[in-house]
Amino acid sequence: MSSAMDTVTEENMAISMALHGGLGVLHRNCSYERQLEMCRIVKRARSFVIDDVATINPNAKVSKAKFMMENYNISGIVVTNDEKKVCGIFTKRDIPFFEQDIKNGAIKDYMTKDVISIKPGASREDALKILYESRKEKLPIIDENGFLKGLITKKDLAPEFPLASKDEEGHLLCGMALSPKFPESSQAKEILKEIDNYVDIFFIDVADFYKKDDIEGTIKLMKFLESDFVLGNIGTYQAAEYLMTKVDFVEERFIGLKVGMGSGSICTTSQQTGVGAPTLFATAQVADAIQDYNPKLSLIADGGFKNPGDLPKAFAAGADLIMSGHFFAGTDESPGFIDTIAGRKVKVYRGMGSKEARTSGYISDRYVEGSKMLTEGVSNYVPYVGDVLGVLATLKEGLANGMIYAGAECIKEMKKASLGIVSVVGQRETAPHDLIGKF
Ligand code: IMP
Repeated sequence: MSSAMDTVTEENMAISMALHGGLGVLHRNCSYERQLEMCRIVKRARSFVIDDVATINPNAKVSKAKFMMENYNISGIVVTNDEKKVCGIFTKRDIPFFEQDIKNGAIKDYMTKDVISIKPGASREDALKILYESRKEKLPIIDENGFLKGLITKKDLAPEFPLASKDEEGHLLCGMALSPKFPESSQAKEILKEIDNYVDIFFIDVADFYKKDDIEGTIKLMKFLESDFVLGNIGTYQAAEYLMTKVDFVEERFIGLKVGMGSGSICTTSQQTGVGAPTLFATAQVADAIQDYNPKLSLIADGGFKNPGDLPKAFAAGADLIMSGHFFAGTDESPGFIDTIAGRKVKVYRGMGSKEARTSGYISDRYVEGSKMLTEGVSNYVPYVGDVLGVLATLKEGLANGMIYAGAECIKEMKKASLGIVSVVGQRETAPHDLIGKF
């Protein structure tokens, strides 16, 4: 997963991560309006269902259909009557090539009346089967009352990205960071409700979630919204135990815990406040609590990842998923421009608790509210590393090879691998050493 940070995940990153089987968590250092815009773009980016289908009335002229087909670059139009119920489909093949002048003819005299369709909510596989059996190109989605709910076309069903993370309708999965504060104004509530239509998983996004006000705000948000929730960050067994056993969250929509405090590469929380729970420690702690109280919850290890070899360790400690800002901040898909420093291409990467990020005002409640003077993050540069696909390929290979060494065939099995503590001398030995060049 890519971190909810304003130099990491906006719509481009979220689309790319989901297309390649991951998840981007849209940041929250902006207005609800901007968040709505981002999640809308992600949700509309890819789907095998077309929502805004072009339709035509049966009494319209063939010339109008021809005009629409040419202008929208489509090969067929669904015909709906005055009540907006489907009564036919008109495609290029319905235009009789031997009749010279049918421009003024009515669609109803030429359309195919016997429409082969599919019910809302049908799977991609069902759609493929019907399209194959009927030898059709287009499949309107029609509900039990005859109303048009969308259109599936053969070309959109092609599995261009076979690993993509998608919802049941074939739209890309979308995650979004959220403040635990329940919005006050009715306008904000309204926009948040609309955001809820596009987002699959909300990530309550604070530096330390084990706080009364944050928990209470989140309970209200969970009741107000309908999507799933991941809560975080926390760093100890006790915090996880408390959240799982003492708090009345909407049970079926509390799907995960995100852990790690103070270990982000741009993070100064531990230095500034003395409080922290490094990601490996937090993962091990919370994994135990999840096993003891609610094994259905997913555990996300967040921050502190430096090398592909850190992934197998996180999974061995009990994580189900990992989140990083550092790996993705230098890619084409992250927000911001490519700069050059001393001949090297770089991109800006900043902590959400940095002075630069906090001036926006939106993110102040990620940290202790009112502490305007104390920054808990820094702004700096990371090397430009090309596109997300390349980064993911490297990570995947490091993880896969680590798993092979550990004898694990899947991430779940990786949890059984044992971890050992390496001494300082061992650490020196396990990195390149005694060579002339610099590393
Ligand atoms: P990284 O991948 O090691 O750079 O860590 C990224 C993670 O650090 C994010 O997913 C956040 O959980 C966390 N984070 C983001 N901004 C800050 C900050 O300013 N201070 C502390 N932690 C931060």
